[in-house]
Amino acid sequence: VTSFSGKTVALFGLGGSGLVTALALKAGGAHVIACDDNPAKMAEANSKGIETADLKSADWSRFSSFILSPGVPLTHPEPHWSVKLAKAAGVEIIGDIELFCRERAKVAPNAPFVAITGTNGKSTTTALIAHILREAGHDAQMGGNIGTAILSLEPPAENRIHVIECSSFQIDLAPSLAPTIGVLLNITPDHLDRHGTMETYAAIKERLVAKARVAILGVDDDWTSSVAARCAESGTEVIRVSAEPTGGNSVSAHGETIVRLSASGSASVADLTGIGSLRGGHNAQNAAAAVAIALALSVPEEDIRAGLRSFPGLPHRMEEIGRLRETLFINDSKATNADSTEKALKSFDNILWILGGKAKEGGIAPLKPYFPKIRKAYLIGAASDEFAETLDGLVAFVRSNTLENAVQQAAGDAAALGSPSVVLLSPACASYDQFPNFEVRGDHFRNLVRALPGIDLTKG
Ligand code: ADP
Repeated sequence: VTSFSGKTVALFGLGGSGLVTALALKAGGAHVIACDDNPAKMAEANSKGIETADLKSADWSRFSSFILSPGVPLTHPEPHWSVKLAKAAGVEIIGDIELFCRERAKVAPNAPFVAITGTNGKSTTTALIAHILREAGHDAQMGGNIGTAILSLEPPAENRIHVIECSSFQIDLAPSLAPTIGVLLNITPDHLDRHGTMETYAAIKERLVAKARVAILGVDDDWTSSVAARCAESGTEVIRVSAEPTGGNSVSAHGETIVRLSASGSASVADLTGIGSLRGGHNAQNAAAAVAIALALSVPEEDIRAGLRSFPGLPHRMEEIGRLRETLFINDSKATNADSTEKALKSFDNILWILGGKAKEGGIAPLKPYFPKIRKAYLIGAASDEFAETLDGLVAFVRSNTLENAVQQAAGDAAALGSPSVVLLSPACASYDQFPNFEVRGDHFRNLVRALPGIDLTKG
């Protein structure tokens, strides 16, 4: 990035995107002074030619900008010391997405830039639209909060589409974010420990669409519906998106059919029937959003349909692993709370449910309405006692303790059932008691299922 050539900038947070950002700034001629609380990260940056210093004792009046990692608290529970020092010295505080925006404004201001946010479904929608665009022959660069840091992608250029997932923390650090297409899927309480109130959290998310040329807005919750109304009032082109039939200029799911409604009438664009990677009402919202983006970018409907059909889905999100006779095996390890697990329980019947780990507040009590769909539950990890109590008398369960036992027992019980069933890992818990993270937990489950004799794998 070239906007900081000849300037001295400070940077805090050298994990993940931080180091990439420091290198990009340096390559563009900036004098970067980087810092991290972790000495190992400082040493790594140093070995790559980045100057490091203790910013606590630095003279902040030298810095023209301060680049902050989105993982570092800007406001709550209290501002990080580096934020306090930057503010005291009147130095602007920005993140890597802001650097991208400034670069794009200089080199390719008209190149399509799709920015996607929301409390849930960001990654699925981002991956889906990137897939549709690539299948349709576009050069689509995908990254941001998903996979690759934005400054590791190919740079902005005419005829290149950037599809960027943005967390609220990243939006907060990108004051000039003004995408060609801004997408806000939904707003429900999350990360309030780091944003303070729901109002602040929603206002940050609204910023992503407020300055977009086209705003694609989920309207299935009150917060986003009022954002849609405000955007429309201010003259932004708004396309409403819903998991249910809706009015206005919109793209919505009518059952399994994605329907576009516009001044020229209503037309069905695609059918989700049988697309295993997009099961469930939540994915209907994600698919409708991706279709709306694709239509706004003038992708032919035939290509949209083909892209939806060939979407492989993301790992650990209701990921279909394979079938053993009449039993489907699903990895939903990303479901670390009851809300997420609810989506999976809604989507299947005759469930052999593997759950547990480190319980979240409220446990699985909110899932009681779905208990009649469950044939048996297999408890793993630290939450076993708590969950056993909730299930007692309502659902048959066994204390499997480990994921290995749970897979063996569930596969055995499924075979004995002799009717279609689903072995579902959807833990409604964090993984930290038994695994480093949800990815390792899901990978382990996938390997265990793949090793079952006779399993018919969904993909390679
Ligand atoms: P994010 O990137 O926002 O965390 P993902 O696409 O990774 O979202 O999905 C994470 C989980 O959130 C899914 O496993 C599912 O339980 C839930 N989810 C996905 N899409 C939606 C949606 N549109 N509305 C509500 N919940 C969703």
